[in-house]
Amino acid sequence: MTKKITFFALLWLAVFSVSQAQVKVVAHRGYWKVAGSAQNSLAAFAKADSIGAFGSEFDVWMTADGKLVVNHDGTFKGVSMEKGTLSEIRKIRLDNGEQLPTLDEYLKSMLNKPNTRVVLEMKSLSNLSREDEAAQKIVKALKKYKLLNRTDIIAFSINACLAFKKLLPDTKIYYLDGDLSPRKIKNLGLAGIDYSMNALRQHPEWVEESHKLGLEVNVWTVNKEEDMKYFIELGVDIITTDQPEELQKLLR
Ligand code: MG
Repeated sequence: MTKKITFFALLWLAVFSVSQAQVKVVAHRGYWKVAGSAQNSLAAFAKADSIGAFGSEFDVWMTADGKLVVNHDGTFKGVSMEKGTLSEIRKIRLDNGEQLPTLDEYLKSMLNKPNTRVVLEMKSLSNLSREDEAAQKIVKALKKYKLLNRTDIIAFSINACLAFKKLLPDTKIYYLDGDLSPRKIKNLGLAGIDYSMNALRQHPEWVEESHKLGLEVNVWTVNKEEDMKYFIELGVDIITTDQPEELQKLLR
């Protein structure tokens, strides 16, 4: 009897640790909750790389004069990312003192950090033609730095997802907005869903459905240990978090 119990306990442990080992850690806006870092800074990508995160996520806007910059907020320190010009936006300092980075600078900084996956979010822009233009420019930049083989693209705008899909049929593109079923995502030719915790808690069955369709599941932004445990057990593939080291510890 005891042997049987021990056997099943070990089996459970083995299965559980395999399922845990598969979860990949993506640092949300880079790893910024550490000294010297700031959201979407060059340092944040470097810190994510330094802890061996699977990937580092960042956000891209297109300025009024058609240049690409890395930042999360539509309006940051009083300047609009879409209505401001590059020269206005470049005057902004991030909280760690860095100049707000261009996409070009951001991608260039990755060249000596080959082990970290590039998770590029294109923000939804004010009109669809600007989104198409930004997608083209982003693809051109990724090609310039030969980063396509380790880049995943994510977007809330389905228009942007499809623009990227057309330009990069072999790149993984994930949809963020949480309102489309895995079947619909599959039909659109995307790689998977990258949904908020709330969206996925409302449809926990979407994890298994996605896997049956050959899609991947990423969930954001999971910062509390109890939530991390919930989504690990639910079987998601990727967890995006502001606490990448805590998640790594939990997975170990
Ligand atoms: Mg983002």
